[in-house]
Amino acid sequence: MNESPAAKLIIISGPSGAGKSTVTKRLLSECELPLRMSVSATTRQPRPGEIPGKAYHFVSQAEFDKLRQENAFLECKEVFGRGHWYGTLRSEVVEGIKAGEWVILEIDVQGALDVMQHPDLEHISLFIHPGSMEELERRLRDRGTESEQAIERRMETAAGEMRFLHEYQYEIINGSVDAAVAQVCRILKDHQENQVCS
Ligand code: 5GP
Repeated sequence: MNESPAAKLIIISGPSGAGKSTVTKRLLSECELPLRMSVSATTRQPRPGEIPGKAYHFVSQAEFDKLRQENAFLECKEVFGRGHWYGTLRSEVVEGIKAGEWVILEIDVQGALDVMQHPDLEHISLFIHPGSMEELERRLRDRGTESEQAIERRMETAAGEMRFLHEYQYEIINGSVDAAVAQVCRILKDHQENQVCS
């Protein structure tokens, strides 16, 4: 993949329930940088309120396999604990880079490791989590949407994901969304300034 020297990927991972989607959405609207969200493809069904092409490109397993064969993915994984496939489309990344934007990939730890090892792609990696497993469990319970079994499964998955924290450049503890958004935006701006000065 060929990209301009200013091109950057922003990798954001973290356990579900850590608030990473909220932080990402707020970043897109509040952080004064040319940011764009990469819309992944997935084989899971849309949830209520999710708009196809905006939340995800929702595809069948056959369509996903075809995209895979065509080498359309920068990375793709059967996300642990989900039982569905998710993939970052090269086209999404290339479009953003051509437009001079920094492309945000909100992806799981396995996919993130692949992107981090990509020889030609400069990246900034951030791991967002709520501070402790107890706090994560409290947030999942407060949502009130999950069965006891689902909470246990998510907690197991989260424990597995937390083991990859050290692979990321930045740890963001999402105690308050406002503070987390400000912290991430500051980190990105520092990178931009360093890029301009060097
Ligand atoms: P959800 O189904 O709740 O939207 O997402 C489930 C998990 O899949 C989250 O951890 C999310 O970060 C991850 N995910 C979303 N898109 C991608 C992708 O393109 N690649 C990978 N590897 N993970 C993804």
